[in-house]
Amino acid sequence: MVRIQGVDKYFGDHQVLHHVDLDVAAAEVVAVVGPSGSGKSTLCRCVNGLERPDRGSVLVDGVTQPAEGRELARFRADTGMVFQSFNLFGHLTVEQNITLAPLRVRGVSRAQARDRAAELLERVGLAAKARAHPAQLSGGQQQRVAIARALAMDPKVLLCDEPTSALDPEMVQEVLDVLAAVAAAGTAMIVVTHEMAFAREVADRVAFMDGGRLLEEASPDAFFTAPRHPRAAEFLSKVL
Ligand code: ADP
Ligand code: MG
Repeated sequence: MVRIQGVDKYFGDHQVLHHVDLDVAAAEVVAVVGPSGSGKSTLCRCVNGLERPDRGSVLVDGVTQPAEGRELARFRADTGMVFQSFNLFGHLTVEQNITLAPLRVRGVSRAQARDRAAELLERVGLAAKARAHPAQLSGGQQQRVAIARALAMDPKVLLCDEPTSALDPEMVQEVLDVLAAVAAAGTAMIVVTHEMAFAREVADRVAFMDGGRLLEEASPDAFFTAPRHPRAAEFLSKVL
């Protein structure tokens, strides 16, 4: 579903991604872990077209990331993104947050968009909050709305960049539970996370990044019990 091939990315003279290769199959969940500054967010942003690789390519369902214009907008619509900081529109209701992109980009009817929003809010356990504004919700609830909003576009891959890092500890699990349910329902996902228990239990594969390089890819069991790369072992010794 996603094919990242030989991706290099620079910010000025600073190379932040070095020839990254990563494939994600349909319905597969890949957890991306690694120290801060290792390029995890930049990789996510390259997959959904917020950043453009300087070399290499990103394909989603066989389509190469287009350079610009309508094609890029369509490509971006196929890659849902969930950010650390939720990024909901504060002046819109929960329902409006969820229906906005389907109405504008997919051209569905208002009734269809509302029905779908209701269904997704049910799925993330927030059926009663359709008319609330983001500021009236807890962080965990806001992030669950953000997940519903991303799913409303029926993305081919859901990219989650540290979806629980900005949450108070008591709200982390409710968001991880929703993400686990999304994974179980068969959405391909790339989840950047520091939640090692989640990576171990929910991911099909773990990708470890350090210094802009993808240094190891392994099954969660193999990665957490016997990491092959010394940097991965060192990282795990600090976080586990
Ligand atoms: P991670 O998500 O793993 O913490 P990032 O992808 O955010 O890592 O950052 C990787 C490197 O790229 C860091 O050195 C960071 O400072 C740098 N970087 C990220 N975004 C930008 C940007 N827009 N401009 C310049 N440097 C950036
Ligand atoms: Mg990051």
